Amino acid sequence: MNKTLVLVVEDDAPVRNLITTTLKAHDYRFLKAENGENAILGTASHNPDVILLDLGLPDIDGVEVIKRIRTWSNVPIIIISARSEDCDKIEALDAGADDYLTKPFSVEELLARLRVTERRLAYMQNGQVTGAVFTNGALKIDYAAGCAYMQEKELHLTPIEYKLLCLLSKNIGKVLTHTYITQQIWGHSWENDVASLRVFMATLRKKLEKESGTVQYIQTHIGVGYRMMKVE
Ligand code: CA
Repeated sequence: MNKTLVLVVEDDAPVRNLITTTLKAHDYRFLKAENGENAILGTASHNPDVILLDLGLPDIDGVEVIKRIRTWSNVPIIIISARSEDCDKIEALDAGADDYLTKPFSVEELLARLRVTERRLAYMQNGQVTGAVFTNGALKIDYAAGCAYMQEKELHLTPIEYKLLCLLSKNIGKVLTHTYITQQIWGHSWENDVASLRVFMATLRKKLEKESGTVQYIQTHIGVGYRMMKVE
């Protein structure tokens, strides 16, 4: 039985009802908040496992809600944004959100995002991310030795490819924006960095795929960034 507690933050009643009905039908527990203040209060008092957060709220901005929650909690936050809020979506990811859904979304999409987040939670709790050796499907990274392997074969990565792979692996399940990644890798985020990032990602991905076949480890989020997926 699914016992995950989801806090649904949405001021639009029909959307809120669609979400809670879906959650109920799939055995999730849920709480509701219709504005930002109640979202922060609800998070503090009920300690939810996941937050579904609409960005356009009547009182405080969704990005501000994330910043405030992140001062004390690492709870996974999935943003729900309208297409007109694309810049806000990137800002929200940089403020510490984990993933996003764009309105209008399907029920299947919502459930899929929740499953990704739950897998990430289970993974974090098992300590596979914080340990010295990271494993995800056939991918293995020995952080201490500075080596990565696919199907037991060592991957020949350039220093930047290896840094990228480590960064993605340490944030498995989470969407990392171009700005975040370039800042972590190069210490700044200029136009050129994003273009270089695209090139490095393409070669890294080719090297991973050469050994892993069709398994997709790195997901591209066009105009947003990249995410490492948990592979079964
Ligand atoms: Ca709204």
